[in-house]
Amino acid sequence: KADSGCNNNNNNNSVGTSILQRTRYHDQIVSALNELPLDGYLSLANNDAAANDFGNIYHLPPLAVLNPATVSDISRVIKHVTESEPGLKVAARGHGHSLRGQSQAEGGIVINMESLAETIPIVVVVNDGGGGGGGGGDVVVPYVDVSGGELWINILHETLKHGLAPKSWTDYLHLSVGGTLSNAGISGQAFRHGPQINNVFQLEVVTGKGEIVTCSETRNTELYHSVLGGLGQFGIITRARISLEPAPKMVKWIRMLYSEFSVFARDQEYLISLIDENTFDYVEGFVIINRTGILNNWRSSFNPKDPIQASQFISDGRTFYCLEVAKYFNPDEAHLMNQIVEQLLSELSYIPSTLFQSEISYVQFLDRVHVSEKQLRAKGLWEVPHPWLNLLISRSQIHHFAQQVFGNILKDTSNGPILIYPVNQTRWNKKTSLVTPEEEIFYLVAFLSSAVPSSRGSESLEHILTQNKRILEFCRNGKLGVKQYLPHYTTQEEWKAHFGSKWETFVQRKTAYDPLALLAPGQRIFQKAL
Ligand code: FAD
Repeated sequence: KADSGCNNNNNNNSVGTSILQRTRYHDQIVSALNELPLDGYLSLANNDAAANDFGNIYHLPPLAVLNPATVSDISRVIKHVTESEPGLKVAARGHGHSLRGQSQAEGGIVINMESLAETIPIVVVVNDGGGGGGGGGDVVVPYVDVSGGELWINILHETLKHGLAPKSWTDYLHLSVGGTLSNAGISGQAFRHGPQINNVFQLEVVTGKGEIVTCSETRNTELYHSVLGGLGQFGIITRARISLEPAPKMVKWIRMLYSEFSVFARDQEYLISLIDENTFDYVEGFVIINRTGILNNWRSSFNPKDPIQASQFISDGRTFYCLEVAKYFNPDEAHLMNQIVEQLLSELSYIPSTLFQSEISYVQFLDRVHVSEKQLRAKGLWEVPHPWLNLLISRSQIHHFAQQVFGNILKDTSNGPILIYPVNQTRWNKKTSLVTPEEEIFYLVAFLSSAVPSSRGSESLEHILTQNKRILEFCRNGKLGVKQYLPHYTTQEEWKAHFGSKWETFVQRKTAYDPLALLAPGQRIFQKAL
């Protein structure tokens, strides 16, 4: 709409008129927004943060940022837009840790969800008197009620005061509830508990029509399933009710190396097939290509099981696969935990000299990436471009993929970690908007690259983007049926292919909940009203 005054005539006069019209139009929108009765406030200047994200590749300035103090503020602004400015776009911004401008709204309104979180307390419910808190029979205590703008790290600290914690996490906790639930929230616990979107009992959502709706598995079910993994397309999550479990105090954290991908993958798949109490609580892994002194790097946080053999181990120039597992425990159960861990490790075929272990607190374990963040920030290496590529790949294709990509398309892992681990789809709710490969077991492969801004070589943004393109082309040409996680596409055709058989449902849901296509324009799925 901001462009609606533009015409293609090169005549100077009409260009001048068009700029004038646009300025007038802009002033009208702003003054109408300013007249809205709000509990919070609108910010019309100094909104640079809303035009940036962790990816640091897209920078799209908004017209205004809404800092809501109440859910009604969000509803009021969206209703105003639908009634008076239907061309204006609206994006919720959680913690802005998107990679390709997904939480930005060029010339539109960005809703700063952290502002809402400041006014909605985190409430832990241990016993609700059997009523399920109004969420229907599917709600099981304990749970926590939080704002959609709340950060997972704050939820962890608050729930721990009650000896409880959410079950399913992301590797990094300085992300908002609304942001991760709009994607999935996948980490090493997902094989046991499913992703974060599987551990939510109830949501409060402001739809693209401005309606405030509570939804769950038994109430407004279609909206509930739409919003989970829905890339912000159907509504803004203002509250969430999240399932909790008793929290352990400590974590045994273990790493070990493999030189053969097939052996590594077999062991990972074996571990995720054990779903009883006696398995690990977390299973992940990563690829190491052509790095020197890997084990020396680990020594600051891990102890080698066999220090002499470990000191003789040489990693230079080779490709390794690191299995990373964790077992939760309380100090008085340490003996039993060690017995279970020994038993599990005895079933695995890693390189014996590369077994490294550590015991740290549960909070330290869950918040481990924050330690790296602080180190990178100190070196000025956190706020750099992050051309990440996340893929979900079927078990039947992963060996072919690994063979072609690790050491072939990718010659080293110097631009950042490459995570790789399988998940077990049995516990994943198939009715959400999230798209995954069809097979029961699939792998998350995450290329978490950082670019060096002024570099022209292999660390440059251009080089990494070209490498990502080559990986995607290889997947496409080989018909590997790969799905992007945290997807980024620029055309609707690509989105259709991404959603496959789920596309029709996705469009129907969009028509029902956000027919003017106001929400989350940064995903670039719907450019105009349906
Ligand atoms: P934002 O960037 O603010 O928003 C993301 C999208 O969700 C946007 O489209 C936005 O409009 C929409 N949105 C935001 N809030 C709401 C809301 N309340 N209601 C509706 N829509 C909303 N992901 C994993 O699954 N597992 C990981 O282990 C993991 N690790 C990560 C580590 C780091 C260092 C980083 C930067 C990201 C990681 N991610 C991981 C990805 C992360 O989950 C997503 O990028 C997520 O969207 C970030 O949350 P955010 O609050 O910053 O979202």
